[in-house]
Amino acid sequence: MRAMVLDAARTPLRLADIATPQPQAGQVLLRVHACGLCRTDLHVVDGELAHPKLPLVPGHQIVGTVVALGDGVDAVEVGQRMGVPWLGWTCGTCRYCTSGRENLCDRARFTGYDIDGGYAQLAVADARFCLPIPQGYPDLQAAPLLCAGLIGYRSLVAAGDAERIGLYGFGAAAHIVIQVARHQGRRAFAFTRAGDVASQQFALRLGAEWAGDAMQGAPEALDAAIIFAPAGELVPAALRATAAGGTVVCAGIHMSDIPAFPYEILWGERVLRSVANLTRRDGEEFLALAPRIPVRTEVRPFPLDDANAALDTLRRGDVQGAAVLAVDLAVA
Ligand SMILES: [Zn+2]
Ligand SMILES: [Zn+2]
Repeated sequence: MRAMVLDAARTPLRLADIATPQPQAGQVLLRVHACGLCRTDLHVVDGELAHPKLPLVPGHQIVGTVVALGDGVDAVEVGQRMGVPWLGWTCGTCRYCTSGRENLCDRARFTGYDIDGGYAQLAVADARFCLPIPQGYPDLQAAPLLCAGLIGYRSLVAAGDAERIGLYGFGAAAHIVIQVARHQGRRAFAFTRAGDVASQQFALRLGAEWAGDAMQGAPEALDAAIIFAPAGELVPAALRATAAGGTVVCAGIHMSDIPAFPYEILWGERVLRSVANLTRRDGEEFLALAPRIPVRTEVRPFPLDDANAALDTLRRGDVQGAAVLAVDLAVA
């Protein structure tokens, strides 16, 4: 099968013909229709997440159709369209797994990092961690739900019942989260890089009541902020923009160092926290909610062979919405 392969960090992916993976016990084999790109993929390719399996097929927002079953799989059928998210396997026995926090499992394995992912024509996945794709979403539009949507949703839940919510970095995740937040009756404020008028216009079109430069402060105090951009200087900026009692959620897996800041901007029972990975329950909740809103994703497709160009586009922040590899679309 054809795949885009990472041989070493900080080198371009290589288009390769590699052996078709075989589903082991408990796994399914999927024909990949589409695979969303995520900023985490950039962190892997750029060497900021230090321990990927190598060589690696990246990609953890896989939309595919099940074409074969490994031994013992009975909850999934051949022909079903399924999604494969970042959380690819957990131990099921550690303190986290047995207390509803499998996202923190000490031995968790991640798709497109520890396990080959979806920048390929075929992929295998543990059947227990696959998520059914909701009706009404074509392959390309479904892909960003699987990480941008899921992690964004978990971040929004972590922000509590905040009415005025700031979104820092208006990419794939924020463009989904704002739709959920607006549906819930919250007020949304979008914070972008200085002068990024395109992203600001995009946010306003999706229901932000204000959009502007992240380092210039907010038009009024926020009750919560979610930081999607991997820039540490946004943490003190978001704390300064947040009212007493508010929460600042860091949603990314990697961030540049956070500059020192005065205690007074954390004082007042402000909470600073991160969100890590996802649980299967997040997936079930969000994929049930998304079609009811309905969340509409805006995507920019790239052919599989163009994964390097797609990653560069994402690195430059040049995508409104989500970048997605169109591998072999079944539902267009
Ligand atoms: Zn565990
Ligand atoms: Zn992701």
